[in-house]
Amino acid sequence: MLAGKIVTIGEILVEIMATTTGEGFLEPQPLIGPFPSGAPAIFIDQVGRLGHPAAIVSAVGDDDFGRLNLDRLAGDGVDVSAVTVHEGAATGSAFVRYRPDGGRAFVYNMRDSAAGRIAATPEAEAVLAQAGHLHVMGSGLPVPAVAAMIRKALPELKAKGGTVSFDPNIRREMLRENGSRAIFQAVLEATDLFLPSGEELSLFSGETGEARAVASLLAAGVKEIVLKRGAGGASHFSRDGRVDRPGFAVTEVDPTGAGDCFGATFLVARRLGRSVDEALRYANAAGAHTVTRQGPMEGSASFAELDRFIAEVE
Ligand code: ATP
Ligand code: MG
Repeated sequence: MLAGKIVTIGEILVEIMATTTGEGFLEPQPLIGPFPSGAPAIFIDQVGRLGHPAAIVSAVGDDDFGRLNLDRLAGDGVDVSAVTVHEGAATGSAFVRYRPDGGRAFVYNMRDSAAGRIAATPEAEAVLAQAGHLHVMGSGLPVPAVAAMIRKALPELKAKGGTVSFDPNIRREMLRENGSRAIFQAVLEATDLFLPSGEELSLFSGETGEARAVASLLAAGVKEIVLKRGAGGASHFSRDGRVDRPGFAVTEVDPTGAGDCFGATFLVARRLGRSVDEALRYANAAGAHTVTRQGPMEGSASFAELDRFIAEVE
């Protein structure tokens, strides 16, 4: 196994979901939750479940929503020493309702919550000093303190032989925000493993078409690209060529968190020395397993659970 912790920086939230489809939250309705959530938190929880050393730099409030998340992460083996508990602040939250067309309506409390107050504390620096790998989640980059921490951490990590993965997790509009493109570009330049889905593949190169976007990313120094294709599985691209793996056939209950569990599993499998093909198989299983459970973090799974799941669905 490659040395060092897998570390990520970013939001911890609770997710509260409407149990019916419809147009948002303009009338009283049945809800289910709170579920532990936040893309970086889902990712690092899955790393912990797989038994790999893991830590997250984040912030929660001193409320039940924060406790719920900290208990889950710590219980799954994640080092939460760099999660600041802000007295009197509220933990971030996301209310989600599916529209009949499959789109999602959100009510976010993020910027004004503890999640908007992530900072470079001494505990954060201690955890980053133990990192062998940094996973960057694009959704956290618009928070200036998070972007600053990542900018500082990238060269330090690279200097000691560490590696970087990047899940852009963004929409085109986010790149247009002031200063956002520069930080996304800086992260991409340091990225060893790029984990886009859909149009995220071509957002940075400006190239249209899969082959051209892949060629441009590899030429820019990205070593591995794994393109997530939802129910269709995933494709891996590197200088050695291309490997495709179909998805597992399951009934999708809740797609949230699939990409994060997929990325965490691919990364851990590779760090443990698995081949690209094996890592894709485990990652597809982790993503498929996640979508069969309601709640973004409820489907995280150990290797033993993934082996059992694969035996059932293959
Ligand atoms: P998100 O950002 O919503 O977490 P994503 O867009 O990053 O997700 P997806 O491609 O939706 O990523 O899902 C990641 C992986 O999870 C897929 O590559 C696939 O392996 C698995 N997966 C997702 N949806 C399904 C599904 N309906 N059936 C089987 N596997 C799925
Ligand atoms: Mg994604």
